Amino acid sequence: MTVLASGSKGNSTVIASAQTRLLVDAGLSCRELFKRMKLANEDPATLDAILITHEHQDHIAGLATLARRLRIPVFFTEPTHREWVRMVTPRTTMTYAQWLDHLQQERGGAPPQTASSSEVGSVPTEPGAPCLDSETWESVAPELQASASSPDPEEDTPAAKPHPSYLPQVEYFRSGANFSIGDISITPFTIPHDAADPCGFVFESRSESVRMAIATDLGYMPPNVKSALKRIDVLLLESNHDLDMLKDGPYPWAVKQRVLSRVGHLSNHATAEFLARDYDGGATCIVLGHLSEANNAPELALLSAEQALGHRRTLLGNRILLAQQSAPLTPICL
Ligand SMILES: [Zn+2]
Ligand SMILES: [Zn+2]
Repeated sequence: MTVLASGSKGNSTVIASAQTRLLVDAGLSCRELFKRMKLANEDPATLDAILITHEHQDHIAGLATLARRLRIPVFFTEPTHREWVRMVTPRTTMTYAQWLDHLQQERGGAPPQTASSSEVGSVPTEPGAPCLDSETWESVAPELQASASSPDPEEDTPAAKPHPSYLPQVEYFRSGANFSIGDISITPFTIPHDAADPCGFVFESRSESVRMAIATDLGYMPPNVKSALKRIDVLLLESNHDLDMLKDGPYPWAVKQRVLSRVGHLSNHATAEFLARDYDGGATCIVLGHLSEANNAPELALLSAEQALGHRRTLLGNRILLAQQSAPLTPICL
């Protein structure tokens, strides 16, 4: 496991076996992800797939560019993919003149008879369908814009600029349903968080019998997550905020409520409670992640987890590491 970044400004982690390399979330720009992978001695070209936990910006910011650049499949749940498509699809309006132009091109003839020009405005579309403006026109309706084909060097595509939601390959999984990529077996599990269909993952390398798990962005520890996190060798676990720092901190009241809610983020206290009461104690390493920069201090998160683990921390087991926002963590190899 190589945590490239962890926190509300971007999350991304490489999970690798001898044969397969997966990237979980792409919450930094493609450029920054490449930079971090280089720092961690990871070669982006060797990645086999990208897996997405949920569609929040800090987990998907660099997704489209990265997937297109590497030409690798992206694994989502269907609701997460649908929500992501909705988010990245421009939702502005098309002017009446543009609509007439569009009809003319579609029919290959003269525009329809029109009423007065004072009727210029938005054009009704199907529920949920994107409306268009001139800037997004070519990306949303490329087939109508044969002349607008300036290649985008960032996207490395030879023809027209693709639709913002274009990905080279999309694969769907369902929480609770095991699937495999290469020699890594993956079990996604549902987490309580305010996104379309958020999940965590357990990864098991069949050839090496090593199990790793990622559980961040969850409001509390429900029974299904507790049972998913059994027999894990390396666990990336959220320890988002200190309750007092959050309550006294700079966030507006509504945001504090969201973070504290059952679909927000795990506090140091909640994480410690899990480690003390429910965790089976079997991990070699526990990585505390998604630490809030405004409402937590690394020392507090560390101390809280150390106290919860107590005497179970040894030289060989339950080593605690802190994932960082600004730099990759040294790869954890078992
Ligand atoms: Zn997040
Ligand atoms: Zn989130």
